[in-house]
Amino acid sequence: MRKDLLPLIVVMAGFLALFLVQRGRTSLYHYQCTHCGESFGISPLLAALAHHRMGQKLLRCPSCGAVTWARPVRKG
Ligand SMILES: [Zn+2]
Repeated sequence: MRKDLLPLIVVMAGFLALFLVQRGRTSLYHYQCTHCGESFGISPLLAALAHHRMGQKLLRCPSCGAVTWARPVRKG
């Protein structure tokens, strides 16, 4: 294995781990728009890439189009 590839592999492994965690979360949770109250599912990739704080994610609501700090709500 080439030594100069190591940082890339570490970054990719980190992203993969994040992706797997997000896939687990997105299978359990919807996100609720704080603007209109609509809850919606998101893809694991979007979940991994979206800005986040305190469990909330900065997402565009597919219902009203607002960019909102969406709260996770348990599916069920
Ligand atoms: Zn909305």
